[in-house]
Amino acid sequence: MAVRSARRRLGLGALLALALFLAAFGVHRLSKARCFALTGEAICRVETRAPLVALTFDDGPTALGLDTVLPLLHRYQARGTFFMIGKLATPQLVARVVADGHEIGNHSFHHKQMMFRSAAYYDAEIADTDRVLQGGGAPLPVLFRPPFGKKLFGLPLAVARSHKRMIMWDAGDPPDRDPQAYARKVLAEVRPGSIILIHPMYAGNATERAALPLILAELARRGYRMVTVSQLLASHTEKDETGGDS
Ligand SMILES: [Zn+2]
Repeated sequence: MAVRSARRRLGLGALLALALFLAAFGVHRLSKARCFALTGEAICRVETRAPLVALTFDDGPTALGLDTVLPLLHRYQARGTFFMIGKLATPQLVARVVADGHEIGNHSFHHKQMMFRSAAYYDAEIADTDRVLQGGGAPLPVLFRPPFGKKLFGLPLAVARSHKRMIMWDAGDPPDRDPQAYARKVLAEVRPGSIILIHPMYAGNATERAALPLILAELARRGYRMVTVSQLLASHTEKDETGGDS
């Protein structure tokens, strides 16, 4: 009898553990969903048939990253969107990106996980970063990208409170081992309206930096125009309003 009830307890415990694991796994998957947020919007691409894509560059900024990315964008007459971390965004680095005509988005101040925190925490992360970016000459950012692409309940609400749009991606992450493989992977995912995520800023991102010329060359060869995320979003709005197809 004692053995049987011990066994039953063990069985119930295992079931409970499994249920908890599945719930945690579900929350994890949900938090990382690219095109969905529980309490607001998460834009991972724009529906369009026009040959437009948006390149987005996350983290930093660093001089190392900008030294690679800015000349390449210039060579292909491309506009990019840089999601910057407030605590790393010096006025000089922000000004370099602004001077080249690119868009700057908010990527939080401390780049910590933004889940299960207070509304005040989210608001401060967003507002402090806005202040730093504007201090470098950027217009008030209208785009936000969550650190690690993770969001649950409070963050989407805070992003909406700050009158920003939450931008995810549909191509480009995670990176691959070598530049050729990574470029191939990114290019296989790209289609009209894609938002491409690339991490080029840190010393450990050499693969991404080396892949960037391959990616840009092939996008240009395929006839894509590389625009900012706001331009991509606006192209969708124009199409909707006119009802046109082009
Ligand atoms: Zn990041």
